[in-house]
Amino acid sequence: VGAGPGGMQAALSADRRGHRVTLYEQEKKVGGNMRRAAIPSFKQEVQRLFDYYKHKIMDSSVEVQLGTFANINLLEGGDYQVIVVAVGGHTAMPCIDGLETVDAMEAPKILERGTVSGENIAIIGGGLVGCEVGWYLRQQGKSVLVIDKVSKEQLMPKEHPTNKAVLLSRLQKAGVELLTETNVCQINGGQLKLGLANGSDETRSVDQVVIATGFAPRRHLWERLHNSHLDQTAEIFRVGDCRRPGRFFEAINEGALVGNN
Ligand SMILES: Cc1cc2nc3c(=O)[nH]c(=O)nc-3n(C[C@H](O)[C@H](O)[C@H](O)COP(=O)(O)OP(=O)(O)OC[C@H]3O[C@@H](n4cnc5c(N)ncnc54)[C@H](O)[C@@H]3O)c2cc1C
Repeated sequence: VGAGPGGMQAALSADRRGHRVTLYEQEKKVGGNMRRAAIPSFKQEVQRLFDYYKHKIMDSSVEVQLGTFANINLLEGGDYQVIVVAVGGHTAMPCIDGLETVDAMEAPKILERGTVSGENIAIIGGGLVGCEVGWYLRQQGKSVLVIDKVSKEQLMPKEHPTNKAVLLSRLQKAGVELLTETNVCQINGGQLKLGLANGSDETRSVDQVVIATGFAPRRHLWERLHNSHLDQTAEIFRVGDCRRPGRFFEAINEGALVGNN
């Protein structure tokens, strides 16, 4: 369930071993967050990886059911011996006073949509996703402020130091403003009250708030499966971001391990 990198790899590995595989994807396209990750123009390598998976899936015997949200009823009707849950994660919303006063957008959705309305954009969260989306919006001529509570040195702890340095330099060259060691204390409509590193406060006016504060695993289906009779009749596995939000490599590796065994 889920045609992100984890689900696609699990499906391909199981298919190669001669199993009959159905891959359910709620969206109309495969790829999950890998598809969104490939959108900024400097992510050609991710685009190539995504193209590879798209073609591999098309050339395989995997039956792909796009636009199909797999819930417990659908899976109960399928007589499956093995169910691989690869449903990814969801944006972990931060606790900020007044966040409900704005129509905040989740960063990955912006890549999917192509843009946001308004010219002054504040991105809360300066990890890989926040910085890439910041760069992407800056290319459209928007004024972009990326805010993170940790120091520049502590940003993107899982990222390779070279990749991190290249991305931060891209942001700087593009003119994205990066405020680290800064807390968003309160949001009131388009007004962001910031607690700066030097202990002072500052208020910024923005047209759009974007949330990029990381991911949390989607647990619902996994928990429902374990509370259903499928727990007795099928083997149930979980791979990728729905297990622990991470990177392509982890999702693909976990998918391959399950599919090959
Ligand atoms: C903007 C962005 C950039 C990134 N860049 C990188 C990068 O450069 N390098 C890197 O290693 N990682 C990157 N990542 C992280 C990487 O994308 C994820 O770790 C990876 O996609 C996780 O794969 P997954 O298969 O577990 O989940 P996902 O890719 O999230 O796929 C899950 C799929 O399950 C589907 N689904 C969910 N519930 C159901 C259901 N009930 N029925 C049917 N379908 C369902 C979803 O629609 C989705 O397609 C990036 C992430 C984002 C958001």
